[in-house]
Amino acid sequence: MKLADIKNPVGTLPGAGPSAVKLFAKLNIFTVADLLQFYPKEYDDRTERRPLSAFASGKVHTAAQITAHEWFGYGKMHTLKLIVSDDSASAVLIAFNRPFLEKAFPVGSVISLTGTFSIRYGELQSSSFEAVKLADNGTTDEFSGPLPDSGILPVYPLTEGLNQKNVRKTITAALNQYGAFIDNELPAPLIADRKLLSKQQAIRSIHEPAKADDVAAARHTLIYEELFHFQCALAQRAWNHRGTLPDVSLTLPEQQLNTAAETNEKAFKSSLSPLQQQLLERLPFPLTGDQKRVITEMNSDLDRGYCERNNLLNAIDEAAKTGKIPAAPQHPVFTMSRLLQGDVGSGKTLVALFVCLRVISWKGQCALMAPTEILARQHAETAAQLLEPLGIHVAFLTGNVKTAGRTQLLKALKDGLIDIIIGTHALFSPQVQYNDLELAVIDEQHRFGVLQRQAIIEKGRRITGTSSYTLHLLMMSATPIPQTLALTVFGDLDMSVLHTMPAGRKPVITYLVREGHETNAYEAVRKELRNGHQAYFVYPAIDSTKGGETDSTLKSAEEMFAFLSQNVYSEFKCALVHSRIDETEQEKILSDFRSGSIRILAATTVIEVGVDVPNATCIVIEQADRFGLAQLHQLRGRVGRSSAQSYCFLVYGKDITETGVERMKVLRQSTDGFYIAEQDLKLRGPGEVTGTIQAGNLSLGIADIVRDHDVLLQARADAFTYMKNKL
Ligand code: ADP
Ligand code: MG
Repeated sequence: MKLADIKNPVGTLPGAGPSAVKLFAKLNIFTVADLLQFYPKEYDDRTERRPLSAFASGKVHTAAQITAHEWFGYGKMHTLKLIVSDDSASAVLIAFNRPFLEKAFPVGSVISLTGTFSIRYGELQSSSFEAVKLADNGTTDEFSGPLPDSGILPVYPLTEGLNQKNVRKTITAALNQYGAFIDNELPAPLIADRKLLSKQQAIRSIHEPAKADDVAAARHTLIYEELFHFQCALAQRAWNHRGTLPDVSLTLPEQQLNTAAETNEKAFKSSLSPLQQQLLERLPFPLTGDQKRVITEMNSDLDRGYCERNNLLNAIDEAAKTGKIPAAPQHPVFTMSRLLQGDVGSGKTLVALFVCLRVISWKGQCALMAPTEILARQHAETAAQLLEPLGIHVAFLTGNVKTAGRTQLLKALKDGLIDIIIGTHALFSPQVQYNDLELAVIDEQHRFGVLQRQAIIEKGRRITGTSSYTLHLLMMSATPIPQTLALTVFGDLDMSVLHTMPAGRKPVITYLVREGHETNAYEAVRKELRNGHQAYFVYPAIDSTKGGETDSTLKSAEEMFAFLSQNVYSEFKCALVHSRIDETEQEKILSDFRSGSIRILAATTVIEVGVDVPNATCIVIEQADRFGLAQLHQLRGRVGRSSAQSYCFLVYGKDITETGVERMKVLRQSTDGFYIAEQDLKLRGPGEVTGTIQAGNLSLGIADIVRDHDVLLQARADAFTYMKNKL
């Protein structure tokens, strides 16, 4: 049977009494299956002897003779000392709360002794030791063979009241009683090909390894098995949605770049629809090779979905005419489900607009959702400017669009008079109804959960009599997602990557500035301002409210705005923007900044995502060490959006930590978001990543996707091959 199906309560095992059962419950161990999947956190390797004299290099494990008993302390503190010696040295065992050892280990007896020793009060001592009696009388010489408690002992993460010995005994009992009935959960050919252990063997070895290598082999098998099943579940989910499996591996940008430019160009040209062609002609610049490649990829997705949908609809029509019941479709209609990753400034918005045009050309509707109102409005302006001349109807909707206009807008949307609607999450609220929503583009929302994805998909059109929704989904992320996450949390999506920046961009030059030396940065910025450019100043807090949760050590945008506009840059027009400023006001400020009448913007991280003002060439981020690495990279991405050289000043606090310094250095050295994301992951450690995974409704037991990255790749490839044959 499957291990997970051994549901017999732990209490049925010999030796597991009611008090043990209670303690096991504290560790969430209720059944034999839970117990057998309670893996050791480490092992106590007692395969080799280590005499007392070698105490400094690790745990002592030796045969020793009791040479004397002594007592010290009074009353409750009355404590036994056992004086012992092996061939190499003598030592003192302090038997706190173990007075019974006086009788158990009489003078002259020989014990097998394991423990950590140190020199205290001039003698070699241990108060944490384990001992097993070997003989009542004798010499240590008689016990030169293996000691009875030698071997590799599992050490479990316990709770108070349980001890290792009892847990080991209970697990041994479980293994003896059920071990032989545990079936493999991996296909047999894979076990052979990947040189894995049987499940039985793996479970036995992880608890009772005979040698150190056994542990590694057992862990490998269990990790592989967990990741394999996880990937099978992802594949199944993708299949249920859209009758296809996602990419097996994330195609690395380098590999993509290797596709010959002409091949790219030809494929792109021939894939364009007339509307897309018109947009291309209206652009003042050429698309980058990467933009062309991903547009081609997505065009082919959309076409495939279009064909499959029409075939299905035709079959249904045909069947209705002839009065037959249409045959159930073999699989759901294919829909695009893609994550477009591209560093800040790589031109994702434009890609999204091209993709929308394809859908619009067959009269489908598109929704483009942005995480903030500022960004949504900016997208709406871009879309209006580029698409309205092509006769496309663009609309803008956020929670703030007021009643009269709103009712009219919603009606137009429902009647199919709007081609693209752009807004915040309001786009997917229950009141908003579409005529035929066929494409949802989600900008900068890579943390969007699986459930939210589902809610959006259900805004699409359902083909009567089937479980198919015909909604294409394009998620866009400017925070490059490390491959580990791309293959797990986002493992049911296809991937497209924009790696190259539009031609003529110069990498942003980054300076690290220590707090107290801000003036240097301010003066450098002044030069840029005098040359007609603009600047952002970013702060970790809005204002300096002492109450609530505001940290008074934080510099605030409000105070610094006052300081900058009055004391530093009185000759330039400054403005302040943050999330508590009224939305209409925010928009006015942003639009004045875009037009150049405002030269300096003091802000919080509201400008983190998406804001696009190419003439801004400087960004000063104060108390930069208070921000995350990915966030700093995003903020820095606000500049470097034209052919002019841009600068980023990261002002860090005097009390910066060592990791903080490392993080700042990563930013100074690199402007490659993919590299920065990997470094961030390394600096933050896998713990944080696991956190992200759980946020994505996925939880793993023994596997760790960062540490077990290679196993993950193998397991995914194997799982997909297996599922393809099965589905
Ligand atoms: P992001 O990928 O960060 O969302 P945007 O879509 O905001 O980037 O694009 C950044 C800027 O680059 C915009 O001003 C956009 O008009 C411009 N842009 C996009 N594609 C190109 C291109 N191929 N050549 C030059 N500029 C481009
Ligand atoms: Mg963007």
